[in-house]
Amino acid sequence: MVFIAILGFFPFSANAQLPSLGDGGEFELGAERRLGERIARELYRDPDYLDDPVIGDYVQGIWQPLLTAARQRGDLAVDIDRRFAWQILLGKDRSINAFALPGGYLGLHLGLVGAVANRDELASVLAHELSHVTQRHISRLISQQSRQTPWVMGALILGALAASKNPEATNAIIAGSQAAAAQAQLNFSRDMEREADRIGFGVMTQAGFDPQGFVTMFDKLQQASRLNDNGAFPYLRTHPMTTERIADMQARQQMTGVRVAAALTAEHAMVAARARVLSGTGPDALRARVAEAEAPNIASLPAARQAGLHYGAAIASMKLRDPASAARHAQRVRELVVSEPTAEMLARLLVAEVALEAGDPQRAVGLLSVQSRTRAEVLLACQALVAAGQPREAAERLQTWVALHPVDATAWEHLSAAWSLLGQPLRAIRADAEAHVARLDLSAALDRLKAAQEMARRAGSDHVEASIIDTRARRVESLLREQAVER
Ligand SMILES: [Zn+2]
Repeated sequence: MVFIAILGFFPFSANAQLPSLGDGGEFELGAERRLGERIARELYRDPDYLDDPVIGDYVQGIWQPLLTAARQRGDLAVDIDRRFAWQILLGKDRSINAFALPGGYLGLHLGLVGAVANRDELASVLAHELSHVTQRHISRLISQQSRQTPWVMGALILGALAASKNPEATNAIIAGSQAAAAQAQLNFSRDMEREADRIGFGVMTQAGFDPQGFVTMFDKLQQASRLNDNGAFPYLRTHPMTTERIADMQARQQMTGVRVAAALTAEHAMVAARARVLSGTGPDALRARVAEAEAPNIASLPAARQAGLHYGAAIASMKLRDPASAARHAQRVRELVVSEPTAEMLARLLVAEVALEAGDPQRAVGLLSVQSRTRAEVLLACQALVAAGQPREAAERLQTWVALHPVDATAWEHLSAAWSLLGQPLRAIRADAEAHVARLDLSAALDRLKAAQEMARRAGSDHVEASIIDTRARRVESLLREQAVER
């Protein structure tokens, strides 16, 4: 479905310009970043896109050390580091997939977060994808398509993504033939895969992750590949388990020695449970999650495992609109994780989230600190403050937050809600416009800024805000003009 809409959106043109190529036959950095932005813009609009701050913080806690390690090892060149986005976009999809996109954007399906056994396994996949970017594999692939305009390239990549997400769509006439052709053009070579394995392994171990995570993740993929489980593992279609990759892996395994897999932490069990529940499951699956946590024998399981089951049951109960059950399971999680600080924080956030959802924002406010440095806590605390009718404190906190994190679209959205409640429509519209800028939807942002300019002219108040809005409108207009030229 997405694919057809996209084709209409990216017009093919007979006399389009060639993309700019650098000296080494690589796609020029700025052009690659802009191509990535085009793709990311469509992914942000996709109903499957999800900004879940809890899962987001967990993923960032893995991603940032990997980036640091790649810098330390000299794998991440200074110019790429500076000019690429290094953003991970989460998708609700249940399938096991992660993919690197042009310009330093990465896609990560919740299915993968829910399927890995520990953070080391997730780190191994992210390090592999990161290495495709740092080794300029993507740039080499797209420069091979030099007869294609960036618009067509964007459409090809989005088409391949849509097809990988939805196996039924590959049977459709249009999506089928074109997406398969696109996928074939976009696959990394076997040598690139081996290089991404090798560099990724170095990056993840340098970052302090257990090399065993690389080995067990590999086993998982190999097993799925033997079962030919391509529907649930689209990752395998782009990352086939070739004999060379397996041999490389076995050599690495011998080097690092056979070790016992890391014990399950309550933190990972809880985040994985959250990912599984949020990855678009129906009511039957939600009820099954609750039943699982209520089975009589679970008390004999390790505490971390129990915490994961109750965490999943609490989120599932919230989705089933059963606040009493959600509160019960959330409380149980809290009792189970008293000795693990990160898990304790996640349990506290869960209790607050459940209270907020049940219409008790005051309880949530009491459990959270607006001055926390954890994004999930700041955003939830501000949401609770707004719901509790204390938008002033939320607006102040979010204002300092967006000053440090100007592309945090969700924070801008909460700020917009807070300003609305405070009777500051100009500021509310501008914050909403910034949320659209952050999700790369510049025309929607400009519409809002123009509306705010109109309003400022009529009202004739708040001169400071009106002048900020004028400046931002000019900036967004000039960015839109640049995009139009490239097209
Ligand atoms: Zn790969």
